[in-house]
Amino acid sequence: MGRIVGIDLGTTNSVIGVLEAGRPFVIANAEGSRTTPSVIGYNKDSELLVGQQARRQLVLNPKNTFSNLKRFVGRTWQELDENSLNVAYTVRANDQECVRVICPVTEREYAPEELIGSIIRKLIDDAEKYLGESIDSAVITVPAYFNDSQRQATRDSALLAGIRVERILNEPTAAALAYGFDKSSSSRVLVFDLGGGTFDISLLQISNGVFDVKATSGDTQLGGNDFDQKIVDWLANEFYNEHKIDLRRDRQSLQRLSEAAEKAKQELSGLQTTPISLPFIATGSNGPLHIEAKLDRKKFEYLCTDLIDRLSIPVENVLRDSGWSAEDINDVVLVGGSTRMPMVQQFIRTIVPITPSQSVNPDEVVAVGAAVQAGIISGELRDLLLNDVTPLSLGLETVGGLMKVLIPRNTPIPVRQADVFSTSEANQSSVEINVWQGERQLANDNKSLGKFKLSGIPPAPRGVPQVQVAFDIDANGLLQVSATDRTTGRKQSVSINGGSNLNENEVAKLIKDARDKADIDRKKRASIDQRNNALTLVAQAERKLRDVSLEFGPYGAERQQRAVEVALRDVQEFLDNDDLVELDMAVSSLQEALFGLNRRISAEKRTDNNPIQGIKNTFGSLKDELFSDDYWDDDPWDYSQNDNGRYNRRELDRRELDRRELDRRELDRWDNDFYN
Ligand code: ADP
Ligand code: MG
Repeated sequence: MGRIVGIDLGTTNSVIGVLEAGRPFVIANAEGSRTTPSVIGYNKDSELLVGQQARRQLVLNPKNTFSNLKRFVGRTWQELDENSLNVAYTVRANDQECVRVICPVTEREYAPEELIGSIIRKLIDDAEKYLGESIDSAVITVPAYFNDSQRQATRDSALLAGIRVERILNEPTAAALAYGFDKSSSSRVLVFDLGGGTFDISLLQISNGVFDVKATSGDTQLGGNDFDQKIVDWLANEFYNEHKIDLRRDRQSLQRLSEAAEKAKQELSGLQTTPISLPFIATGSNGPLHIEAKLDRKKFEYLCTDLIDRLSIPVENVLRDSGWSAEDINDVVLVGGSTRMPMVQQFIRTIVPITPSQSVNPDEVVAVGAAVQAGIISGELRDLLLNDVTPLSLGLETVGGLMKVLIPRNTPIPVRQADVFSTSEANQSSVEINVWQGERQLANDNKSLGKFKLSGIPPAPRGVPQVQVAFDIDANGLLQVSATDRTTGRKQSVSINGGSNLNENEVAKLIKDARDKADIDRKKRASIDQRNNALTLVAQAERKLRDVSLEFGPYGAERQQRAVEVALRDVQEFLDNDDLVELDMAVSSLQEALFGLNRRISAEKRTDNNPIQGIKNTFGSLKDELFSDDYWDDDPWDYSQNDNGRYNRRELDRRELDRRELDRRELDRWDNDFYN
């Protein structure tokens, strides 16, 4: 089995982790950060940008830059509340009431799952480069409170990224795994995870490597964004009262407001008051208008009282469902950037009066836990056992539109539950079954996971046929349904759809498109890389020539200098003509010529009776720099290309460095023989 990575696919930030030699760790992305903003965008040339690059164009290109997509995952248009729609890009419902994101520059619309797939792809690409091996499967975390559709949709995102999902793991469970996988003591832990867009809370019993989730609850539409929104509304309302202009109607102003609000919010976690300055935010009848405001923590907390109230509902639920009281809890694990807010920390202290654990990093703990789970699956980590629960009740619609619960929330998974159905009329040949998930009494108030029809029931008086319908929730929290006609013994497989924003055909088509496009993209990227490398080499060669003629005069190393000049001209020419085939060869020639020049110089350097030695000495301290020979230096990084045409970014190990040192000595010997 290949290597399995762990991915925390956050609303705001995503993180990828892996297990190495039994220890989980987080892999930094190509930009060097351990977290990658969950933002996707297209620039004006329709090029895909993911992560920090996309985040940077949020204000300048709001229509083509997409953030907070996780709020749309696996949700139908009707399920979205006004807050979710408060984004600077355009979303709409397609004819199946699925959410679509409009991207003007590519003239296409995307399912949120598709865009999120690009985030997964980037995380994987960067991790592959780092590890120097390919990755084809992952453990992906989701909020514990995600329903079946949201889980299916997350799995679709991974499929679109070409990744097999080994396990869908609940985020708080992952956090608990990271917290407790190397502890032997037994404890009762509360995991409180407030991120950018979702809130999860779980209670677990951990003892000797066994992780029992007792209960979980949450709110998939509550997170740091809502706190930002309070500041946005406050600023916009004040501005409206003064100037009668609604800043929220202008995409760019809205985006600038949101960014300033988030920054102010984060500052208020450490400071008592913070200035908010947004020059040229709009244009009034008398010219440009600005925002110059001051927000203090007390005011901010006052604006957010209803959000703090909303946090307490899941907390009450989880305590009630677990049967534990606050005194039973030994440790509190805080997860997610929003738990840095003092008002949130105070709120938690009012539920469990102990100091939260400081042993985990709230930004990385979920990915670390996912990496631990990956290690359990691959067999690398033993003696760890995870027993999770299903967050929401699963049931069927019965007479009068009531919800009949088959699998109550917080039932340990995997679980199988069956029920028997019959007909309500004579000779009825089919029955329709409507599956719902949620806690409300009326089915209609819950989330419909889909309907299916059982057909082919043999003619019989009403109530006689017996059809057994079984519901299986697997370890991923995903539902599968099967049905058996008890009288005939015939088994029917039923598929539930309506979950993801994409149907099976769409997923298949997108995967194919992505594969086709990946080839084109790879070629395009390879040619860009090729040009860039040539340009770098040209710059190096020019510098070298300059340095050498400074040191030795224009004819100091005549033959080698001319060779570099000729090769340099060729490279330049093919770069200008964009002739990439010839360019490759010219680059090799230039490399060879430079190599020759360098060798000649190092030979000169070592020859004691060298006529130019005197000149070198007069250069004094410059000498070291000029002869440092940076291009061929002892560089501990490997820049070669791997089989996929990607550039390695792998630190060379000791053995490889030693080998290179031997090569160098061999070369020196050869040089000495040749020149003496
Ligand atoms: P997710 O898992 O949903 O991607 P994160 O755990 O990365 O989210 O948390 C992101 C949220 O945390 C954002 O709303 C961000 O503004 C907020 N955040 C980060 N640092 C702070 C801070 N110092 N004070 C308040 N909020 C913060
Ligand atoms: Mg998170």
